[in-house]
Amino acid sequence: MKADVLRLIRSTKEYMSLMALTEACKMSEDEIYNAVTQLMNMGYDIEYEEDKGFHLNSYPENITAVELMSRVKTEWAGKNVMYKKSTGSTNDDAKNLSGNKNAHGILVVTDHQTSGKGRRGRAWEDNGQGNIAMSLLLKPKCNPDQASRITLIMALAVADVLSQLTEGEVKIKWPNDVLVNKKKVCGILTEMGLDDKGNIDHVVVGVGINVNQKYFPEELNHASSLYIENDEVTSARSDIILGVMDYFEYYYGMFEEFGDLSHIVSMYESYLINKDEKVKVLDPKGEYTGTATGINDFGELIVQKDDGGFARVDSGEVSVRGVYGYV
Ligand code: ATP
Repeated sequence: MKADVLRLIRSTKEYMSLMALTEACKMSEDEIYNAVTQLMNMGYDIEYEEDKGFHLNSYPENITAVELMSRVKTEWAGKNVMYKKSTGSTNDDAKNLSGNKNAHGILVVTDHQTSGKGRRGRAWEDNGQGNIAMSLLLKPKCNPDQASRITLIMALAVADVLSQLTEGEVKIKWPNDVLVNKKKVCGILTEMGLDDKGNIDHVVVGVGINVNQKYFPEELNHASSLYIENDEVTSARSDIILGVMDYFEYYYGMFEEFGDLSHIVSMYESYLINKDEKVKVLDPKGEYTGTATGINDFGELIVQKDDGGFARVDSGEVSVRGVYGYV
């Protein structure tokens, strides 16, 4: 409700009349005044002139569900937002919403994720100093063995947005890390829930972006943030979230339409830090080295092995590193 009112008020540079608001939001005049008062209490500077209506002078920089929902331009991705000041894991929160009727596209966002997860039991650290931790809940129609492709779609969406925010070099380390100047600024964790027939019930794509973190502990020596790379605070975290939703929805639409990643392969490869580089493939069945030549339509990394032949590396159980370190 509040988000609808705010969306309309901010949709014009002029004034939004009370009558237009009551009609468009299907709310009474009292309900509109009430919503505006609540928005003003949240820090929105809304001016009211009796003969003209409402005008938004400025808005607070903090992330809230109302702010995101009043500005989102997508059809479904992030249309419904659950915001928490602090939470253990946004992936777990999103998973808990998977039984909702309109679950597809729900976005859970927090200012501080205290038990963020990485792949295979690893942790995602977030010190709560102005970063982004969010999880998008999906109800995909694809088969379980195709779900890992969604990670690549999200990585591409994040890379597109970060490229607009830094002059640093934005790259993707296949499959799920987005780097700025060869340092990890974003990690993505995709988790899937199956129904009792073995079909996908839901997929949750978790995204952690280091936005304003100033320091990292020594053990995270390959981590960085936009703040560190740009040498300035990024105040527009909502813009980042909304931008990622926009790009994700667009690329995901292509994935749904074509059933594979054929339409994003070249874009993904333009960011791929491993492309034509020596890599070490940490396969539980046996490590090997080779040269990564790109990805295929299924999101697998193609590696020309040093000892001959090509390998198609599936992201599921495998990690890829540079031969001498992280990349
Ligand atoms: P893989 O190639 O297997 O994905 P990874 O090291 O990228 O390996 P992830 O599971 O994607 O692993 O991410 C978790 C890892 O990311 C942690 O083990 C840690 O090394 C690193 N990490 C944790 N928090 C952060 C952070 N805020 N910023 C950057 N890196 C982090």
